[in-house]
Amino acid sequence: MQNLKTIRLVIIRTQELGESDKLITGYSREKGKLQLLAKGAQRSLKRFVNKLELFSCLTVQYNDKYRLPIINWAELIDSFLPLRQHYSSYTAAILVCEHLYYWMTADDGDEELFNCLLWFLKELARQPTQGSQLLVLFLSKFYDRLGYRPDLTACAVCGKLDNTAAPFAFRTGHGTIICRRCYVERGAIPLALPTIKLLSLAFELPVKKLSRLKLNTQACREALNLFRCYGRYLLDRDMQAWQTLSTAGEGSLPYNG
Ligand SMILES: [Zn+2]
Repeated sequence: MQNLKTIRLVIIRTQELGESDKLITGYSREKGKLQLLAKGAQRSLKRFVNKLELFSCLTVQYNDKYRLPIINWAELIDSFLPLRQHYSSYTAAILVCEHLYYWMTADDGDEELFNCLLWFLKELARQPTQGSQLLVLFLSKFYDRLGYRPDLTACAVCGKLDNTAAPFAFRTGHGTIICRRCYVERGAIPLALPTIKLLSLAFELPVKKLSRLKLNTQACREALNLFRCYGRYLLDRDMQAWQTLSTAGEGSLPYNG
């Protein structure tokens, strides 16, 4: 029985396999990203009914004797139902799942990132119209935990961070900002001073205090644009959900490459 493991995870991707099985990808605190096979899940087996859905938080028991571990049973903790009922919150949650799916690997569990994921899903279910703001806060923590926190402390050339040097621009290739007085190259991402200050706070605050931060439309748009371009530069791919998000009424993202 030593092959039986019990773990709590959030489902970040589901795929149908053959006629009756389902391949589940989850993110967990202890084991990072993991893939599990749910045999017979496409048939309405009682033990899986309505449990193996995207975004759901579950406790699962699986047998890791196999190359692709098989789920024995699953117990639903929270399905975050309300966020599935709004197109924009659904898209925001898909985007977060996509980030976890493409960035994370097996055995890179991170307690703070897992807590941040649960915080994001709970807050989004509670206030489904706040997708943009919650996304900015989640992605701030996400890149920070990965070790890619953008350096927004001051202009990388002159060291200034005040209104006389505003507006600033983020340089994806450097991960730093530069002020208008120094040089703003083509393709740099515009950032107003209040956006820089809000993002700097988001990097520093513990997850449970993130909800204190309120971002206006401009800050959301600038920050999302930064994370989209920065993520695309780092990972060399654009997440599919960015495109959907920009047509989901979540403020038109200025970046449209
Ligand atoms: Zn400068």
